[in-house]
Amino acid sequence: VFQLSLPLNFLGTIYREMRQSLLDLEVLFNLQTQNRVIEDKPDAKPLALQGGSISFENVNFAYHEDRPIFRDLSFTIPAGKKVALVGPSGCGKSTVFRLLFRFYEPSSGRILIDGQDVSALQLASLRQAIGVVPQDTPLFHSDVMHNIRYGRMTASDEDVIEAAKSAHVHEAVMRLSEGYKTKVGERGLMISGGEKQRLAVARVLLKDPPILFFDEATSALDAHTETDLMRNINAVLLQKARTSIFIAHRLRTVVEADLIIVLREGQVVEQGTHDELMRLGGLYYSMWQQQAADTHHEEAVSVESTSA
Ligand code: ATP
Repeated sequence: VFQLSLPLNFLGTIYREMRQSLLDLEVLFNLQTQNRVIEDKPDAKPLALQGGSISFENVNFAYHEDRPIFRDLSFTIPAGKKVALVGPSGCGKSTVFRLLFRFYEPSSGRILIDGQDVSALQLASLRQAIGVVPQDTPLFHSDVMHNIRYGRMTASDEDVIEAAKSAHVHEAVMRLSEGYKTKVGERGLMISGGEKQRLAVARVLLKDPPILFFDEATSALDAHTETDLMRNINAVLLQKARTSIFIAHRLRTVVEADLIIVLREGQVVEQGTHDELMRLGGLYYSMWQQQAADTHHEEAVSVESTSA
C-alpha cells in the first residue's frame, strides 16, 4: 500500500499536468477539427523573452492547398504595445494566433518573438509566455476560487481575489450563494457569459504572462461593462509594459490601441492608429462607417420595440 502511494501521487501530478495542457489547447483553439500535434525539434531552445515583440515575415499559409489564407503576410507588433487585429470575418485573425502558438506551421516565411523563430523554440516555453482570453472560456466543475487560481496554481487566496477585483468579477462572486466556494462549470451554477469572460480575464491576470491575447474578449459584455472592463484591463496592463493583442469586432474597443493592423485577403492592407486610419479613408474607415450605421439601426429598432 505504501509503495503504491508514491506512483499514484505521481500519476495524479501527470494527470493534472495533462489536463492543464489539454485545457490550454482547448482554450486557445477550437480543437474539434484539429488533431495534428507539433513537437519540439531535437535542438529546440526555450524562449529567451525580452520585451515580447512579435513579427510575421513573408508568411504563407493555407489550411487546404487550394485556398491560401496568408500570402506573404508581414507585420510587426512592437514590444509592450497594445495592438488590435481587425478585418472582415474570415480574413484570418484567429489564424494569426494559431500560427503564433505553432498549432499550425506556415508553408514558408518566419514568425519571430523577440527575434527568435518560433519553430525553433520549445513549445512549452512559447505557450507559457502567452496568456489568452478566448471567445468562450471553459470552466472546471469546481469552485470559483479554483477556476481563477488555475491561471497560477501557486497563487494565494488573496492573489485570486485581487485578480477578480481587477477583472470586475469580485462583486458578482460575492453575490453567489457560497462566494468563492460556489461551484461553477458544466453542471454547476449558471453564470452569465459576461461573468464567465471576466473569470477568464482574472485567470489570465493571475497568470501574468508577458504577452496577452484577447480574442473578442469583450464580446459577451454590454457596452457599459465593456468600457469599464477595458479601462481596467488597460490599467493592469499599463502597470507593466506588456505586449497585448486584441481581436475585436466592435471597433470602438480598439480606438485606443497603439497600433491597428487591418487584414484582408491574407495581407495587411492598412496599419496605424485610429486617427491615422480614419484620415486614410480606406477599409478601416468604411468598416467604421458600416458599424456606426448598424449601431444606429439597432438603436432605432430597440426604440421602436420599446415604444410599441
Ligand atoms: P472571424 O472574424 O469570423 O472570427 P477570422 O478572421 O478570425 O474570422 P479565421 O478563424 O482565422 O478568421 O479563419 C480564416 C479562414 O480560414 C476562414 O475562412 C475559415 O473558414 C478558415 N479556417 C479556419 N480554421 C480552419 C480549419 N481548421 N480548417 C480549414 N479552414 C479553416
